[in-house]
Amino acid sequence: MSAGRLPGIDSLGDLSGKRVLVRADLNVPLDGDTITDDGRIRASVPTLRRLLDAGAQIVVAAHLGRPKGAPDPAYSLASVARRLGELLGRNVTFVDSHDPEAAKDDVVLLENVRFDAGETAKDEAHRAGFAAKLADGLDCYVDDAFGAVHRRHASVYDVAKILPHAAGDLVARETDVLAQLTESPRRPYVVVLGGSKVSDKLAVIDHLLPRVDGLLVGGGMCFTFLAALGHQVGRSLLEPDQIDRCRTFLDSGKVALPVDVVVAEAVANDAATSVVPVDAIPPDMMGLDIGPASVAAFSDRLQGARTVFWNGPMGVFELAPFAAGTLGVASAIAALPDALTVVGGGDSAAAVRTLGIDESRFGHISTGGGASLEYLEGKELPGLAVLAEGEGRAG
Ligand code: ADP
Ligand code: MG
Repeated sequence: MSAGRLPGIDSLGDLSGKRVLVRADLNVPLDGDTITDDGRIRASVPTLRRLLDAGAQIVVAAHLGRPKGAPDPAYSLASVARRLGELLGRNVTFVDSHDPEAAKDDVVLLENVRFDAGETAKDEAHRAGFAAKLADGLDCYVDDAFGAVHRRHASVYDVAKILPHAAGDLVARETDVLAQLTESPRRPYVVVLGGSKVSDKLAVIDHLLPRVDGLLVGGGMCFTFLAALGHQVGRSLLEPDQIDRCRTFLDSGKVALPVDVVVAEAVANDAATSVVPVDAIPPDMMGLDIGPASVAAFSDRLQGARTVFWNGPMGVFELAPFAAGTLGVASAIAALPDALTVVGGGDSAAAVRTLGIDESRFGHISTGGGASLEYLEGKELPGLAVLAEGEGRAG
């Protein structure tokens, strides 16, 4: 896609005394009301701080999970409001819905925008109506929710039709990096894909294959490729209807597959595991990680790369017996001395953090899995396209 250069916060002019609607991505994993990974809240702070430092009052809109268009306490942003206050070092006023007449506090966080069916409505008028409520009494709009830019939602898309608008610094940085991957990547350009479903990632493979020098495939999706080579994959993840498609990808000569896999009878921490060559997967076993010889081969293929995009764990990294492949490949990417390395995907970013790899060793860790993949597929992302329209000047 090409959204052009997006107008940034500077384009809004003097923000002192302005009331700014900010769409942030605060969609963090929760266990009850405990935030298990606050990465997205942290990533939102710089733009919010910048706006406050410029003298703006901010009203932050965000979603959490997938409530069904009505209030649901399980998806409340209440604990996010507390954490945001701590990280900003400011009082955050948490309210059920936007009220333009309410006391004008410096930082207001609105309850989950998806509690209103208008946020995600397919019906344009319904969505536009909710967007108008969000925009009421506010001067301009800043979109910093990269993880939501692939959604045609009221707080992402329709509000930008109403208010002067700009991209926040996080959205600007994410799109700059993705533009580097799509426009003129330094070569060799190697893409590493894993994760659970091939069908999720076929479109991105289709689009990337002609543009990359190598594609390394691990994770649950490698078994459909291995089946395309004629191997038996036992009880591993397999998408039989995608085998033909995988065969055409293999014809490109650019795809590297694992040579060995870690197999077990069950996806369990205490399962007995063994490492087998990919042409000897026992019929009653599941492949749950790539093996050590594959890690070595993939690391080798990565040497000398100047651009690397990685999406999708190499195995079931959540369980220790199946984490070595992801740790090995991620470490090899992190160690590349002279490469732009980009991690995209919620589980891949979580793997980096939970496996203890220093995040700063990657060039960029995207906050938006779906959004970054759709960008790389070459799709137009509604939330970016709408920011590129118009001048984005505050009235
Ligand atoms: P991301 O969120 O980074 O895009 P995905 O959502 O595509 O990644 O895939 C992540 C999931 O894939 C993880 O939960 C992981 O356990 C699973 N996975 C990886 N390898 C396998 C495998 N061999 N068998 C089953 N699941 C796998
Ligand atoms: Mg995922």
